[in-house]
Amino acid sequence: MAIDPALSALAANTESTEPWARPSCPNCRSGYIGFAEPSEDESHESAPHHGHEAFEPDWIRGTFVIRGQCENRECQLAVHGTGDYFVDYSTQQVDFDSPGPLYSSYYKLTHLHPPMLLMPIPKSAPEEIREGVLRASRVLFADPGLAATALRATVERFLTAEGVTGGPSGKFQTADVRIKQWSAQDPTRLAVANLLLAVKWLGNAGTHEDADLTTTEVLEGAAMLDEAFHRVYTGPDLDARAQVINTAKGPSR
Ligand SMILES: [Zn+2]
Repeated sequence: MAIDPALSALAANTESTEPWARPSCPNCRSGYIGFAEPSEDESHESAPHHGHEAFEPDWIRGTFVIRGQCENRECQLAVHGTGDYFVDYSTQQVDFDSPGPLYSSYYKLTHLHPPMLLMPIPKSAPEEIREGVLRASRVLFADPGLAATALRATVERFLTAEGVTGGPSGKFQTADVRIKQWSAQDPTRLAVANLLLAVKWLGNAGTHEDADLTTTEVLEGAAMLDEAFHRVYTGPDLDARAQVINTAKGPSR
């Protein structure tokens, strides 16, 4: 399953003239979250300058709140969001009848609560992996570096769940060594091991003090982890079911 493209759209600035992206509902997983118009509060830094002789609307800065709701009538999950906004020239066609340039508000989301799921969690994945993905999801917009670190920790949780504990004496082992150990147990695991390793590298980059990882890069890591988990947890189930159908030469009932 692919990563929800609405999350990438929400990670970018949303212009006041365009509709908000509708992410998949984390509660029912069948509906989408539709957002109402955001409510703006101009900051104490920009508000006092309206009387300035050189004032232009693109000086305006502030924060906003937004309310969303799942469009599935049986679910109707309420979602609350917040973030920063600024005013700048509109990307809309210039209206030649208007006296000056057109301006838009641009919204940069920093939080959604409850959080949107950054990637689907396979049904047969153990609970600690679910928790790892949820942890990354909570900080996706607020701190992408931290989200990448949480995804890396999810790889470590996966290795622990798979029984790859590290050295024989319980000595600390790096994620690299543990991924290699897990991969060495089965020659078909190499491709998945490469995906896990990439998530580890993104997590390392996110951990640094001066991390400048973007939400888009974190979502790329999530796509890799999603594919790895898909192959580990869902792939074998499908293989087994295909085998049953092939043996029966028809549907298995
Ligand atoms: Zn829903």
